[in-house]
Amino acid sequence: MNTFRPVCWFCGETYEIEPIYTCRRCKGTLDIQYDYKQVFSQAYFQPLASAAGNEIGRFRELLPVWPNQRMITLGEGGTPLIRTNNLFNTGNNQSLFLKLESVNPTLAFKDRPLAVAMTAAVQFGLNEVVCASTGNTGVAAAAYAARAGLRCAIYVPEGTPEEKRSAMEQYGAVLHTVKGHYSDAYRVAEEMAAARQAFNLTSTYMNPYAVEGNKTVAYELAFQLGKVPDWIIVPIGAGPLLSGIYKGFKEMKLAGFTDKLPRMAGVQAEGCAPIVRAFRDEEIDVQPWSDPAQTIASGIADPLITYPADGTRTLSVIRESEGIALAIADEELIRYRRLLAEREGVLAELSSVTAVAAAAQMQQTGLLEQSATIISIVTGHGLKDMSAAINHTKGSV
Ligand SMILES: [Zn+2]
Repeated sequence: MNTFRPVCWFCGETYEIEPIYTCRRCKGTLDIQYDYKQVFSQAYFQPLASAAGNEIGRFRELLPVWPNQRMITLGEGGTPLIRTNNLFNTGNNQSLFLKLESVNPTLAFKDRPLAVAMTAAVQFGLNEVVCASTGNTGVAAAAYAARAGLRCAIYVPEGTPEEKRSAMEQYGAVLHTVKGHYSDAYRVAEEMAAARQAFNLTSTYMNPYAVEGNKTVAYELAFQLGKVPDWIIVPIGAGPLLSGIYKGFKEMKLAGFTDKLPRMAGVQAEGCAPIVRAFRDEEIDVQPWSDPAQTIASGIADPLITYPADGTRTLSVIRESEGIALAIADEELIRYRRLLAEREGVLAELSSVTAVAAAAQMQQTGLLEQSATIISIVTGHGLKDMSAAINHTKGSV
């Protein structure tokens, strides 16, 4: 008996466990819902807090995998949580922690959703996967496809860093460069997945199974801190990481493991910030970013063209958490990337640096409560876009 099923996030229609991406009734994106009564019939989280082993598979009752299905894993998860010593003004007893998703097997948080999605692909008996990617999803997809023995085709926009392109090819994936921006690659991947009956791993809300892997960040944070933080700051393109983390904390509350939820801050780059714009304008619906995406933070440069409802979904989660959406200028990303490396020994991808720059901005503008505990999610390693940062630095001299 399975304890989970896909449900439309917008209209509530329920579906069988199958390779499905959108609601057949309203075209909305899907969410996986669980029989929580059954999962939580015994104290669920407590023994896991001190369990040996760090892999995300230890949370499998809250992941959309069948009971006897072998997890496709490279040992993802169990990433360090470190307290900043020299970067952040610790006046007001505020503390800033970094969750180093940059040390996952392919150096980005995407290993969590891809491990779950690749397990689902095997579960469904599929032998090919496809995705659109700004880079990190593609690298993770290629690695986990290699691990699972599946064929993998990846569609990336022009401007994808060479480090990521090269890694995808070395893992044996077939790489296609699509003229235009991420949303163009998204469309081509969607067409190719349908034509080839391949599992689409595109990392928006496209694949509901993948999104679930992001919840494991929340479980780990609660165990590592011994409490629920006040704020979690997340770099966002479409935003499934932010939504997944919040969902993880909601599940912990439902299970009686905690009675508190964090406030969620979603961060974009100023040159491509459709969700932030809607938040500032107090709109309910996010509109696509029709201007050319102009930022060095390529990993989160998602204009949401043809799928703005993904942004609307993320924005609604931010609002539900009484959170905030904010944007960071490229110059600040260059500055904070260097500060983070020099003062804390953490080399982060430019997209990830948004979460650190945002913490400083929130402190300076008085948004953080006294004694607040803040987590910035360092989503990817600086080695993944080294050339972009170097070129930008040279160009700005
Ligand atoms: Zn629907």
